[in-house]
Amino acid sequence: MLSFLNNLRYLGLAIGLLLLGLVPAGTAAESLFPIVSNGPVAARYNIVVLAEGYTAAQQTRFLTDATNVVNTLFAREPWQEYEAGFNAFALSVVSAQSGSDHPAYSLSKDTYFNSTYDNADRIITIPSGPSGQGKVDALLSTHLPEWDLAILLVNDLVPGGSDGSARTAIASVSGIADILPHEIGHVAAGLGDEYTTPNPGFPDVEEPNTTRQTTRDKIKWKAWIADTTPLPTPATTDYQDRIGLFEGAHYHETGWYRPKLNCTMQSQYTPEFCEVCREALVLALYERVRPILAATPAETELAVTNADPLYFSVITLEPATHPLSIQWLLNGSPIEGAVAPQFSLNPATLPSGQHAVSALVADPTAFVRNDPAGLLHQTNTWLLNMDLPVKPELTLSQVQYLPNNSFAFSIAGTAPQAAIESSIDLRHWTELGILPLVNGEARYTNANSPNTQPTFFRARAIP
Ligand SMILES: [Zn+2]
Repeated sequence: MLSFLNNLRYLGLAIGLLLLGLVPAGTAAESLFPIVSNGPVAARYNIVVLAEGYTAAQQTRFLTDATNVVNTLFAREPWQEYEAGFNAFALSVVSAQSGSDHPAYSLSKDTYFNSTYDNADRIITIPSGPSGQGKVDALLSTHLPEWDLAILLVNDLVPGGSDGSARTAIASVSGIADILPHEIGHVAAGLGDEYTTPNPGFPDVEEPNTTRQTTRDKIKWKAWIADTTPLPTPATTDYQDRIGLFEGAHYHETGWYRPKLNCTMQSQYTPEFCEVCREALVLALYERVRPILAATPAETELAVTNADPLYFSVITLEPATHPLSIQWLLNGSPIEGAVAPQFSLNPATLPSGQHAVSALVADPTAFVRNDPAGLLHQTNTWLLNMDLPVKPELTLSQVQYLPNNSFAFSIAGTAPQAAIESSIDLRHWTELGILPLVNGEARYTNANSPNTQPTFFRARAIP
């Protein structure tokens, strides 16, 4: 499955390279190439990988490296399960020189975003102003204003990276598999570091996956903690698969706790996020991508003027291994068995007035147990203003008896014309003629007939 997807991505890449050869050299320097396309950018979480320290001659390799970035992410949970919610792009940008600055070795390179390692040759940053992050923001607002996450891919073989700004993760090409997922955890979901290495001056503010709280009922990830798990939780292999309260997190050996013994946010070399971090990443996706991707009709208020059936449908996000649940409601009440993406309604079954048809879509994923904002639910409601034509009603007057067995009666009503019918048994009716109503009235007089059977008459409205 994965290799098939990979092939598809390389196909996209090949097309991208072809385009690169067709556009003028001056603009080819900054070009956006789709790597994974799952839907319109307005309705997906859009990741853009930007080239830093790649020369003009290295742009082809950048596209390969960017594809590797995307493949690495989508091979890992929760991105694997939710890949359908993402688009991914590569933004090729040309640097004058290859690599990045290494002040520890007095090495300086002329690169587009002016990236540099720190003195420990481990953390890579770019200037926060116009010569660094400002260039990221400007490029993206030009090429993809709908961007959600930027990944600055630094063409350097020394492993390094950082969580950059609020929406930009930075990693060297040698840190794609380990450093980058950890940094994206910071940037995409506001996750904290679960390790204990001191970080003097860093604010003691709790993140979704770090806490000082030790009272079971008040721990933010209590939904994940089994009653049998001791708190704090011993840091032994007996508990390595459990969610608990493990001491040591947020740059502190004591007094701060993390949810699991091992997690990508505890060590970048742990290939899996813990359940609490994974949950935060799914919620971050749903802040941007809604469970209902499209709904038909597009209008949410409908005037119903005839009795033709009404058709409604929703297109939902499709995680890799589980469907979203759908329930249709009429005036807020669930309709039994109406759980398919399509729903139809016969307006003739509804009394006049306003009615509401709703589709309630929810993601029942096991990845999320805490959703206080209700991000995994969405309701699309259509208001139906019933304006069905009123059925013409006719009334008959008292019979007036005339000489020679004749009689007459009047018909009054709103119909343009009336069919006069007679019956001797009230079951079988015979049409006698059609009369136009003038000013809402018509008068019927029977033919002179010697019929002695009791006869019934009625007038049927004709549009
Ligand atoms: Zn974690």
